[in-house]
Amino acid sequence: MDAAGIREIFERHDLRWTKQREEVYAALCRSEAHPTADELYAAVNGRDAAAANHPGPADHISLATIYNCLDVFSRSGLCRRLASPAITPRGDGAFRYDADMGDHAHVVRSDGCVQDLPDDLSEEVLAHLPRELLDRIEQRLRMKIGRFGVEFFEARNRWGSAPPIE
Ligand SMILES: [Zn+2]
Repeated sequence: MDAAGIREIFERHDLRWTKQREEVYAALCRSEAHPTADELYAAVNGRDAAAANHPGPADHISLATIYNCLDVFSRSGLCRRLASPAITPRGDGAFRYDADMGDHAHVVRSDGCVQDLPDDLSEEVLAHLPRELLDRIEQRLRMKIGRFGVEFFEARNRWGSAPPIE
């Protein structure tokens, strides 16, 4: 997505434009890995950016700013936090973020990576949730369902890695 497109999305969501917000949102849109704040930090400040001669040390974006952007984006409906956390090298859980706000299903690999289920399969899965069931959920929980998602978790063997497909 180009800078003009991002400005337009920010405007539509009543979000004040800053260069840093643009950089963080662009990096999130570019990634298909559902990155954590740490991963986005590396993406906007890392080698790729340096190779493109951009950004220089003057426009380094701090981790605190990344968290702040993600918080604002989530609240404005520009991205969402995923339910399943990534396990960081420090061993704690970290939120993953997704700029794709359309209904789609996720696959969580045994190593913790998250990818989108291909569109055709995603649509098929979501289409198989009967409207009548959704109505009953809404009635019982007294809420209107805005959107829903499905996650598939790869099986793990006892060593934590994925068993072979037969
Ligand atoms: Zn996704």
